[in-house]
Amino acid sequence: MARIVQKFGGTSVGDLDRIRNVAQRVKAEVDAGHEVAVVVSAMAGTTNQLVQWSKDIGPLHDAREYDAIVATGEQVTVGLLAIALQNIGVDARSWLGWQVPVKTDSTHGSARIEAIEADDIDARLSQGQVAVVAGFQGISEEGRITTLGRGGSDTSAVALAAALNADRCDIYTDVDGVYTTDPRIMPTARKLDQITFEEMLEMASAGAKVLQTRSVAMGMRHNVKIQVRSSFNDTPGTLVVDEDTQMERQKISGIAYSADEAKITVVGLDDKPGIAAVMFEALAHDNVNVDMIVQSASTDASRTDITFSVAAGDADKALSVLESVKDKLPYQRVDAASNIAKVSIIGTAMRTQAGIANKMFASLAEKGVNLQVISTSEIKISVLIDSAYTELAVRTLHDAFELHEA
Ligand code: ADP
Ligand code: ASP
Ligand code: MG
Repeated sequence: MARIVQKFGGTSVGDLDRIRNVAQRVKAEVDAGHEVAVVVSAMAGTTNQLVQWSKDIGPLHDAREYDAIVATGEQVTVGLLAIALQNIGVDARSWLGWQVPVKTDSTHGSARIEAIEADDIDARLSQGQVAVVAGFQGISEEGRITTLGRGGSDTSAVALAAALNADRCDIYTDVDGVYTTDPRIMPTARKLDQITFEEMLEMASAGAKVLQTRSVAMGMRHNVKIQVRSSFNDTPGTLVVDEDTQMERQKISGIAYSADEAKITVVGLDDKPGIAAVMFEALAHDNVNVDMIVQSASTDASRTDITFSVAAGDADKALSVLESVKDKLPYQRVDAASNIAKVSIIGTAMRTQAGIANKMFASLAEKGVNLQVISTSEIKISVLIDSAYTELAVRTLHDAFELHEA
């Protein structure tokens, strides 16, 4: 007997027939003698609609009320799945975040899980009852509903698996596993049998939304055995593994992209200690999440330019922060460009193999793709490009690194 957490994403619970299909998948594990907790997302499209309504209702944005609104999608699906399970003879009940409770900090809209007090669920599981838990939501110390950021049900599932000491966390989605790149834009993308935690973390943070980045970090920290697989077939999925257990070694493991980025360049800053600190402290204070940062020497030796990227949705906020610190931080001007994409290649083999960056840049150059910013980590190289070239860049790199071949 094992203890299993199964997580079903929005498409997998997209209508009543799909919820009935999910119930059958849960029943199969119960019939096999396992203890099962299920985490579900809202029906596909629901959260987008709720986000839209919370914006359209009026100009004031109270993030606590935003969370009260967007968390409701999951309340519907937990109830429906619990009923679907009961109808096929499986003992089940629903749990909202606050009922578990899933305790989070108060960063509404992207709260962090601080603790899951899973004793009640634990006891019910031991009695053979299936727990159907609402993903994406928790409760703050102030007793307010919080949400974990888009895609957050993955994190709910992995955190619950850790809290329940589960043997496995199976993430069921609408693709067969983690692919070399998004199979929606690259039909010849190959499903990976395994990917290391570290690679998956980089893939997710570089834009591969098949797993939320925080879920991977959580799994890594708590040693949760994560498998990504399809809820529509029985094909074996992708196991997220530690590096020393990884079998296949390729030059690179995958390519990720994020199409909605903006690039901001602050031109003509004084070249003296503390400039970057003031700038990024102000941005962080207003919760602007900065991704790539490049500082370059300008032609005038006493001046410097700093370029950084943010999610396109944060660009206006970043610009107003820069405007507000102009007194403390004199600069000549700010250039902003939206329609920017980030394309990244990821692989642990980069640690030991030479020539990977070179190959990336040369193959993009051959297609006339201009690289606006380059940044590297130990196992990742990212470039910012004009977003019109996103798909071309992903396809070009997928071919150049022969990722379709096993
Ligand atoms: P769910 O609703 O089940 O959480 P998501 O839409 O959040 O599903 O994530 C699954 C989607 O992630 C896939 O449909 C696919 O388009 C996208 N995706 C992006 N990169 C990858 C990748 N490398 N491998 C698999 N899927 C990917
Ligand atoms: N329903 C939430 C979202 O759409 C959480 C999730 O699906 O993981 O972002
Ligand atoms: Mg998701």
